[in-house]
Amino acid sequence: MSDRSNNLSAVLYGAGDLRIEDRPVPVPAPGQVLVEIGAVGICGSDVHYYDHGRIGRYVVDSPMIVGHESAGTIVAVGENVSPDRIGQLVALEPGVPDRTCEQCLAGRYNLCPNVVFFATPPVDGSISRWVAIDQYFAHPAPDNLSVDEAAMAEPVSVGVWAAKKAEIRAGDRVLVTGAGPIGLFAAQVARAFGAKNITVTDVSVFRLAVARQLGFTAIAASDPLQSEFDVLLECSGAPSALSTGMLALAAAGRVVLVGMGVDTVSINVPLVQGKELTISGIFRYANTYPLALDLLASAAVTTELIVTHHFSLAETELALTLARRDPNALKAIVRPHS
Ligand code: NAD
Ligand code: ZN
Repeated sequence: MSDRSNNLSAVLYGAGDLRIEDRPVPVPAPGQVLVEIGAVGICGSDVHYYDHGRIGRYVVDSPMIVGHESAGTIVAVGENVSPDRIGQLVALEPGVPDRTCEQCLAGRYNLCPNVVFFATPPVDGSISRWVAIDQYFAHPAPDNLSVDEAAMAEPVSVGVWAAKKAEIRAGDRVLVTGAGPIGLFAAQVARAFGAKNITVTDVSVFRLAVARQLGFTAIAASDPLQSEFDVLLECSGAPSALSTGMLALAAAGRVVLVGMGVDTVSINVPLVQGKELTISGIFRYANTYPLALDLLASAAVTTELIVTHHFSLAETELALTLARRDPNALKAIVRPHS
């Protein structure tokens, strides 16, 4: 455990301008816990902010700490939080909603218009040595989890939410397009939900090989899909993956749009009508962390083969530019205390 003499953090000033800077160590407010951050996964959105300084209408116009896939150990608690929590390994759910709006009261807190989400301008993220967060969004990790695995509860949560949205049931045949971290976690979650014949597609030979090693049928995106599926989890953002994937669906098939790529795509209307397909999107997740952590703890979902690289805090920029340099990288993790 380090002393709390500094709070070095990875701060993005704009496109291509990342600096390691000291920030005040947060004091946990009532209801909050202070977490010593052990691991933060780099997500495509962090890379996008680094490359472009913005994602759509979210613009980095003042310095922002990046990162939101994080886990660590509780080292202090604010008022109204049990001191028993000190020492717990926790996964930090990065979006804290207001809990009072119509969407929150309906249980759909991921759709809360007032959510405060790490590393979404102007909110700071979690590549920091110390982060304060609402106690209920610091989810206790089962004993056997490593801090890296706990951090991966974030992308696993996207898979859990996609599988729930698709209502994946035992025996379902599932097609996952895109073998990035999201697709590879989503495929594992689908298997844990009872899906069989899970097929994963990608354009990368390396990623297809990882999918195969994880036990899935892996098919190049350019190859024809021979079988029929009940569910399509579109995790690439590629319009062609969506259109060819939809053609492979059985009657009453369900499509979940996870990947973000091109904003507007065309839809084969007679196909959707003739097969009564259901198409939905997902926006992050709600109430998924406990299950995501359990799936990781039971090894139903593994981070092995997916977490491919580790970096120290000083190397955060290398982590953010890793994908440009190494086509065989999947998920990079930054350790803020190393
Ligand atoms: P990634 O870029 O690592 O993975 C995308 C994969 O799709 C890559 O491996 C790429 O080679 C592959 N691909 C490209 N064209 C393809 C095609 N035609 N057919 C099949 N595969 C193809 O990204 P990731 O971190 O795994 O995230 C996946 C997507 O999910 C991203 O678009 C991301 O923005 C999105 N996402 C959405 C949510 C949400 O809440 N909806 C949350 C997290 C991530
Ligand atoms: Zn709300």
